[in-house]
Amino acid sequence: MTERYGHFIDGGWRDPANGEYFTSTNPATLEDLYQAARGDSADVDAAVTAAQRAFEAPSWRGLTATKRGKLLHRLGDLIAENAEELARFESLDNGKLLREMRGQLLTLPDYLYYYGGLADKVQGSQIPTNNLAVLNYTQREPLGVVGAITPWNSPLTLTASKLAPALAAGNTVVIKPSEYTSRTILRFAELASEAGFPDGVVNVVTGLGAEAGAALVDHPRIAKISFTGSTATGAAIAARTASRFIGSTLELGGKSPNIVFEDANVENAAMGVIAGIYAAAGQTCIAGSRVFAQRAVYEELLERVAERANSIKIGDPLAAETELGPLAFQDQLEKVNYYVDLGVDEGATLFAGGKRPEVELPGYFYSPTVLTDVNNDMRVVREEIFGPVAAIMPFDTEEEVLQLANDTDYGLAAGVWTKSLARAHRMASSLDAGTVWINMYRAMSPMSPRQGFKNSGVGIEHGFESMHEYTRLKSVWINTDESPLGDPFVMRG
Ligand code: NAD
Repeated sequence: MTERYGHFIDGGWRDPANGEYFTSTNPATLEDLYQAARGDSADVDAAVTAAQRAFEAPSWRGLTATKRGKLLHRLGDLIAENAEELARFESLDNGKLLREMRGQLLTLPDYLYYYGGLADKVQGSQIPTNNLAVLNYTQREPLGVVGAITPWNSPLTLTASKLAPALAAGNTVVIKPSEYTSRTILRFAELASEAGFPDGVVNVVTGLGAEAGAALVDHPRIAKISFTGSTATGAAIAARTASRFIGSTLELGGKSPNIVFEDANVENAAMGVIAGIYAAAGQTCIAGSRVFAQRAVYEELLERVAERANSIKIGDPLAAETELGPLAFQDQLEKVNYYVDLGVDEGATLFAGGKRPEVELPGYFYSPTVLTDVNNDMRVVREEIFGPVAAIMPFDTEEEVLQLANDTDYGLAAGVWTKSLARAHRMASSLDAGTVWINMYRAMSPMSPRQGFKNSGVGIEHGFESMHEYTRLKSVWINTDESPLGDPFVMRG
């Protein structure tokens, strides 16, 4: 009998109101892993009601900011103590390498420590208006119940990126994790309870996007939605929240350029290109899926990338020697297959990969792929594939590559490989992307703010700026002049 999880609401486990569950499967072995509650609007309502009550209760509202920070610290410690179990669950759920998930879990407590430290550093200010008799000051207040909707590719990290600032600022939260990765988020809520967060402050409703996710977005007592996922879902959420005048932070898709100039260390650049597109089987929002190489180093870079792509060890994500695991679920595999076939139909050349590799396990494996003879008009270059598919293109000049790199609907990230300091700075300021890496790729830190430009998002995640995403600003005016107020209808000269 597979394990079965209910929702985590008001500090405890709750069976789904409709009695329905769905099954989570291991994408490497295709074995059933566990069942999770298939939530609907009744469960969402129970969770939001609990979160609203907790938001107003003295056990949370009456805590000092420093005490909220301490709770986040304790949660960070508990995550560190349970890191191995959490990493293993994530790897089993989404097929990413256990090694990679261990690495993410090692740094996950830092998210809680960082925002724990910021909890008591959110300040208003005193404003020098032109009226000397008035004291005007601002204060930052929590919003209320924040709905967090997260994807499956880095479930805990992306959830902590929202939860930590939201809780530090004094909000309560209802999380709707991806239906492919419910288990670690449920465990995260359980650990929050163990850390001492009052009941109802952290709640999880599992289920499908169109059901539990939509119900959370549409719930009238939600103060904000913080969402990470695809641009299409983000657009639907933005429309629904905007019509109710509630805010949303949206971290969406990408089609990021990774640009190699002829003066770069090509060996390093090739490593950066490979890490940028094949790590996590390309299932990262920041995947460097459009690779531009200057003509003089194009052949060398292509050969290096293709050679490594052909030798990457594909297999069981739990095995220490594996370098590439499966895609996370069947639709992902079909999507990657579709795009590679489409690219070839559009005139691309399959330089490496483009097939299902021979692996002993029956899961959703796909070979690291290189497409050449591609250009910016092709859908494989314009649309997010979310798989291990690199489109590699030559360019001649800096002006040309800048125009090509920015000719995209997305603006999440970009990489630049060059030894020229001046060019590095020129590119960093001209690239239309929220994150630019120079001679590196795929770095992220809770301390460093990130924002998707264009169709890659709205709002800021990470860094101090993210605290402001979870507060509202109030301006308070105090008349310090106690003399009688004049008649408002008598005009003073
Ligand atoms: P998705 O949009 O399909 O799902 C994301 C979450 O939204 C899931 O929990 C899903 O159940 C929920 N959802 C789906 N439809 C919904 C609806 N109508 N209403 C409310 N919720 C709904 O995305 P995904 O496939 O889980 O994740 C992959 C995408 O996420 C990629 O596009 C990737 O680029 C993006 N992503 C972005 C970032 C970033 O920081 N910018 C990070 C990771 C992933």
